[in-house]
Amino acid sequence: MAKNGDPGGQRPRNEGVRATKGTTTARAKVERLRSGFLNKEGVTLTRPSRAEAEAAFRTIIRWAGDDPERDGLHETPSRVARAFEEWFKGYADDPEAILKKTFEEIEGYDEMIVLRGIRFESYCEHHMAPIIGKAWVGYIPNGRVVGISKLARVVEIYAKRLQIQEKMTAQIANTIQQVLQPQGVGVVLKAEHHCMTTRGVHKHGTDMVTSRMLGAFRDNASTRQEFLSMVE
Ligand SMILES: [Zn+2]
Repeated sequence: MAKNGDPGGQRPRNEGVRATKGTTTARAKVERLRSGFLNKEGVTLTRPSRAEAEAAFRTIIRWAGDDPERDGLHETPSRVARAFEEWFKGYADDPEAILKKTFEEIEGYDEMIVLRGIRFESYCEHHMAPIIGKAWVGYIPNGRVVGISKLARVVEIYAKRLQIQEKMTAQIANTIQQVLQPQGVGVVLKAEHHCMTTRGVHKHGTDMVTSRMLGAFRDNASTRQEFLSMVE
């Protein structure tokens, strides 16, 4: 499908595979948030304290041109830190673990399952500006299905991280493919990037569409078409 917009699109196809292979357990993820984590070069990045984060937000307020100590802004750094905990809570969750519980009593059901129009809010990793959109997630089971809300959870976990839409699309599809091993997976994301609509080129009303098709969704034109006909 057509892509446009964010300049960060040039990524290898297997970006999401690499990202999810590094996943260990939910416990390790929580530990990562609590203390720190190893970066790509094997250097430990310790997690700054809440006080350090709040001090950083005070610096940013002053840099933007206001007085962080005035009444209206005094509590803002701690509120922003709490908001960040919510906006980036996806780092603490393991999307693979979410998909591990499956149901096998499906009477041979082998048609497409699609969860449509899953609203998400993410944040672009280039500007930390909101990416607001919807996701369509479909798969054709191979002997087992997953609770439908779990597909929405996977979208949510990857959304609540610093992202580019292309990578997020691939991560969602790759994770479902790896864990459920279905006959195929299709993922379409449509989103508005606030770094583009509220600043920069100021193009309101534009959205970006990305897709990732695996297995039957990639190989079989009528399967792909059936899925895409459910994306509005
Ligand atoms: Zn951006």
